[in-house]
Amino acid sequence: MTIVYRPANLVEAQLVADELEEAGISCEITGQFLAGAIGELPPTDVLGVRIQDKGLVSKALSVVADWEANRRRVRSDWCCQQCGEQVGGAFGACWQCGTAERPPPSSMQ
Ligand SMILES: [Zn+2]
Repeated sequence: MTIVYRPANLVEAQLVADELEEAGISCEITGQFLAGAIGELPPTDVLGVRIQDKGLVSKALSVVADWEANRRRVRSDWCCQQCGEQVGGAFGACWQCGTAERPPPSSMQ
């Protein structure tokens, strides 16, 4: 098992894991079972996204790099169309209701 990303929190971990799965790389989040209720997230160094196949490490790292670059590019906050919550730009899904309906950048002006 190789850690390919150290997320700041579980939401980030899940986002990265989704990206990896989408790229055909099976992965798992480590440390998530140490987390208590929401609001009691474990320290950063406990969380990790890891993959089983060492041969896919470089591909996984490039997926992570792409994800990070993309996240920086669209960092402005957005408003959830479902519940109206103001969601941080780093997130692709509403942290309030879980709706993954971030408006496309073209409609965010
Ligand atoms: Zn919402």
